[in-house]
Amino acid sequence: MARKPLMAGNWKMNNTYAEAVVLAQTISNNFDKHWTDSVDVLVCPPSIDLKPVNTVFEFDHQPIQIGAQNVYWEPKGAFTGEVSVPMLKDVHCTCSIVGHSERRGYFGETNEDVNRKVRALLDGGLYAVACVGESLSVRDEGGAEEFVCAQVRAAFAGLEPEEAGKCVVAYEPIWAIGTGRTATPEQAQDMCAAIRATLADMFGAETADEMRILYGGSMNVGNVEQLLAQPDIDGGLVGGASLKADQFVQLVKAC
Ligand code: PGA
Repeated sequence: MARKPLMAGNWKMNNTYAEAVVLAQTISNNFDKHWTDSVDVLVCPPSIDLKPVNTVFEFDHQPIQIGAQNVYWEPKGAFTGEVSVPMLKDVHCTCSIVGHSERRGYFGETNEDVNRKVRALLDGGLYAVACVGESLSVRDEGGAEEFVCAQVRAAFAGLEPEEAGKCVVAYEPIWAIGTGRTATPEQAQDMCAAIRATLADMFGAETADEMRILYGGSMNVGNVEQLLAQPDIDGGLVGGASLKADQFVQLVKAC
């Protein structure tokens, strides 16, 4: 089955309001809307910039999706500092990243939290971009595949196949994030194939075949083509290179 690739930019905690608007506008100015016939494009700015960034894309009639970098599972209430699914929906987000290794590592996000967030997103009509990935020590000990596949099982526990089918998995080896050290295409492919096999075991081969699995971790214009040439890699979740409009546009074109 031919899966439509997804190129997603994760801006992380970068850009002031003015910088975010300029970056969105520069992406938009250099973006041909027909590209989205063959690739879905997603930009994930900090939550405070979701509305202005989306306004730029909507004003220009650009079919570029916006998504959050994180979300809380309760719809509203006394949860200081959090943002809910209905709030994201209200500013036209299509999805949220969940379980990014920086959230897991610095903010203590657990597999159970990730699962609650996936559930809340789907209940609210949004999809999840669920991140998984091993540390260097886990890889060196030979346990990477087991570790990552357990994260996949935990993130999607309790879902129906048609719910899981709406979601995206991003395989991001922690040792490759922001380090300039990319996984080799073979390492990335092997893990993405193992993830797809896990999804097939959970939800059936047909659903697993529909689901997009992204690679993330120092993806750039120099390595994108080799990575995307792998049969189980359906796009990218890009940090550093998504902060430069020309590079992000090149990555979209590579799809
Ligand atoms: P990077 O980040 O492209 O800067 O390595 C990827 C990510 O963490 O999503």
